[in-house]
Amino acid sequence: MGGETGTEVDQYGVVGHPVARSRSPFIHGLFAKQTCQRLAYRLYDVMPDDFVMRVTGFFAGGGRGLNVTVPHKPAAAAFAHTLTPRAEQARAVNTLAAQADGSILGDNTDGIGLVRDLTLNLGLVLAGSRVLILGAGGATRGIVAPLLDLAPDSLMIANRTADRARVVAASFADLGPVKGCGFHEIEAHPWDLVVNATAASLTGGRPDITPAAIGANTICYDLAYGHEPTAFLSWALAEGAAGAHLGWGMLVEQAAESFHLWRGVRPETGPVLDVLKG
Ligand code: NAP
Repeated sequence: MGGETGTEVDQYGVVGHPVARSRSPFIHGLFAKQTCQRLAYRLYDVMPDDFVMRVTGFFAGGGRGLNVTVPHKPAAAAFAHTLTPRAEQARAVNTLAAQADGSILGDNTDGIGLVRDLTLNLGLVLAGSRVLILGAGGATRGIVAPLLDLAPDSLMIANRTADRARVVAASFADLGPVKGCGFHEIEAHPWDLVVNATAASLTGGRPDITPAAIGANTICYDLAYGHEPTAFLSWALAEGAAGAHLGWGMLVEQAAESFHLWRGVRPETGPVLDVLKG
């Protein structure tokens, strides 16, 4: 990860474990081509114990920026010298950027990525709506504040481990009407938007919630992405949901926000999203 000194091309990458299947090099490669930026973007598979040493070496060697994925987002928040307000709120960083003075800035673009997909790509209006988030992990911490910015009527965080949902909700309570509960405490009426931010989709499972949460006007969104609907989205459609969306748009939009932070240029996301969705 070190040894980049002296290269002419600005160095970027994604650090995670495992990271081999990340689509980020492909996405940033398309962004670079589209915006005529010369850069290299690589995968860095780094074990948690090596994170600080490897990332320090990357930046000491002239690296310009890193995306950070599971399990390193909290470690990246501790590593950065300064945090953007949204990274501070999330206590998780998915983007590190070298600054002119040599310091490292930490940002979290996951939430704005989701919001841009929901509002710009999918055309949803969330002001006054009732939003249910399933899961209370790192991804949820990144999306709560940007969703509250859209002025929903209420935002419920429900998690398999109820206390975790309550703790996360309490930490955002000064920003808007957010509460936490367990899956079995979810109010049994249709929600306007249900976001699956659990890791259940990664192993073919789905959160065990009441079908009463899904109605004819409910839009369901899974942060996971792939070429088949997740178990959650298939279930939601079978229960009569109005729409079901995988997390491809969030993935591309969060990457575009990182690219903008690093290069000062905002790539067009539509063509990249079309390629990825196939
Ligand atoms: P995380 O911090 O490990 O949190 C995992 C969450 O999932 C916890 O709330 C956990 O509940 C819950 N969970 C795990 N297995 C479950 C199951 N079988 N049933 C119900 N709940 C379960 O993970 P994360 O970083 O938040 O990531 C969550 C998901 O978001 C992943 O699929 C990730 O790939 C995706 N993601 C997508 C994007 C994108 O750009 N599209 C960006 C970020 C993340 P407990 O607390 O009870 O253990």
